[in-house]
Amino acid sequence: FAPWNDPDARPYIAFENVTKRFGDFTAVNNLSLSIYEREFFALLGASGCGKSTLLRMLAGFDEPTSGRILLDGQDLRGIPPYRRPVNMMFQSYALFPHMTVEQNIAFGLKQEGMPKPEIETRVADMLKLVKLTQFAKRKPHQLSGGQRQRVALARSVAKRPKVLLLDEPLGALDKKLREETQFELMDLQQSLGLTFVIVTHDQEEAMTMADRIAILDKGEVMQVATPAEVYEAPGSRYVASFVGNVNMLEGTVAERTENRARITGASGAEIVVENAGDAAAGNTVAFAIRPEKIKVSSRPPAEGTANVMEGEIYDLAYLGDMTVYHVRLADGQVLKASALNSSRITEDPLSWNDRAWVSFAPDAGVVLTR
Ligand code: ATP
Repeated sequence: FAPWNDPDARPYIAFENVTKRFGDFTAVNNLSLSIYEREFFALLGASGCGKSTLLRMLAGFDEPTSGRILLDGQDLRGIPPYRRPVNMMFQSYALFPHMTVEQNIAFGLKQEGMPKPEIETRVADMLKLVKLTQFAKRKPHQLSGGQRQRVALARSVAKRPKVLLLDEPLGALDKKLREETQFELMDLQQSLGLTFVIVTHDQEEAMTMADRIAILDKGEVMQVATPAEVYEAPGSRYVASFVGNVNMLEGTVAERTENRARITGASGAEIVVENAGDAAAGNTVAFAIRPEKIKVSSRPPAEGTANVMEGEIYDLAYLGDMTVYHVRLADGQVLKASALNSSRITEDPLSWNDRAWVSFAPDAGVVLTR
């Protein structure tokens, strides 16, 4: 039972109706959000949506204009950053250039007045944790970007905060290193048993690492869900388009029965879908369907197959593990479909300008009214 599914679990961090204004501008708008102990939680959204402002308020660098933030049941208002059991790691890392790796990690502990032998043990533990023991005597400029990032991480967890806030922590790393580091961060979070709150605008990064994701837009929460829920059951067009690739078939609900809807006008065709949610007859809706849920073939599918549309291969990209097809339909809309190449071997090859038929099962997507 994950804590967020447990009605009796108490949130560890709670934003309650938090608003933050800068002059006339509302950066965070009456936002409520719960994060649980030991959760890896991601705040995801486009630039300017207010994610860093949320972190800064949690860390104590800023106070909400109204509303409150609770940590383990305690209202944080008025508590200065250094007295909160929260530490923040910035994208820039902010390592001291004249200090060695071990001095950088020891810095905060010394300031706290921790006895020297204890500092030594703690620093050695931290170096081991981030696999930098052999680099202890180096200065930051003698390290790679990934190693510097790990020093910053070791330094920010050395004081054993309860919560670590990470603002775009992997932004400075190249793609490959970023992917490796994502797994290291997850391992670290597990082994330390900390609550991590990460800010990112990279949906893949959020999907990879987080237990749950909050998708923000203009200072408001659009949806909070696990990566799989966000991908499979987005609640709005915004969320569906922000996370992963998606096709939107816009139309009008002609008929609604139980969980099914018949939608007309979707790319000239009529489609029958399940997962109709709160859509009622007459509503303008979008049927959101992921590319891998659309089947493409060079021949018309068998009689009786649901939701068939005819078009032509407009674009095609071979990506190694899979092939992506762009199929142009009669009304000009281009649908994206993808197929794993391991499953394609037995299927007919398609190429540019070929006539093609796309089809999808009624339950292959979701109907969105927002
Ligand atoms: P990014 O990914 O670009 O960092 P973000 O989602 O983290 O974006 P925030 O830094 O939280 O965005 O900023 C949210 C909005 O509030 C932005 O429009 C920003 O310009 C504004 N803002 C942030 N801090 C201030 C401030 N001190 N004074 C005025 N406006 C601010």
